[in-house]
Amino acid sequence: MFIAHLPAGYLLTHGIARKHDTIRRRALTVGLIFSVLPDLDLLYFYFADGRRTPHHDYLTHSPIFWLGVAALTAATLILAGRRRYIFFVWVALANVMMHLFLDSIAADIRWFHPFAETRFNLVEVPARFEPWYLNFILHWTFAAEIAICAAALWVWRLQRRRNRDRRVEGNAAVGTERIHA
Ligand SMILES: [Zn+2]
Repeated sequence: MFIAHLPAGYLLTHGIARKHDTIRRRALTVGLIFSVLPDLDLLYFYFADGRRTPHHDYLTHSPIFWLGVAALTAATLILAGRRRYIFFVWVALANVMMHLFLDSIAADIRWFHPFAETRFNLVEVPARFEPWYLNFILHWTFAAEIAICAAALWVWRLQRRRNRDRRVEGNAAVGTERIHA
């Protein structure tokens, strides 16, 4: 997946947090960061590993690793009496899992690593073109990426209009209160 991780993260987090007005913005920040966080391993891939290991084989693309991190974080928050932050752990985990699921469409992800090394990918993208990324951009799965981007843009615009309407209603209510005061 090339361009749809962030928009997919927006759609998912919007869906999870839209009813929680007071923490919606913070949830969106966490969701967007974690929707792309696993791909930070590309820095290691290019600058430290010398492109020796496919970055989907790093721990950062291992679902069980992230489950462990989330469980540890949640346990720490409970012990520290900060249960209210667990919602953000859930948002982060949901976004990381979606990242790995989307990666698993055209690239192979080891969903059960380190317990099993079986790789899962939904479709095989044939290597026909040079440079390599053209194979992905000219594959039908890229149309799905564009559809995700378009859907996110649409939802974002709807939300923006909703926020504006709410602000206008709020100002009108304050105005009415002043007149009656
Ligand atoms: Zn990835």
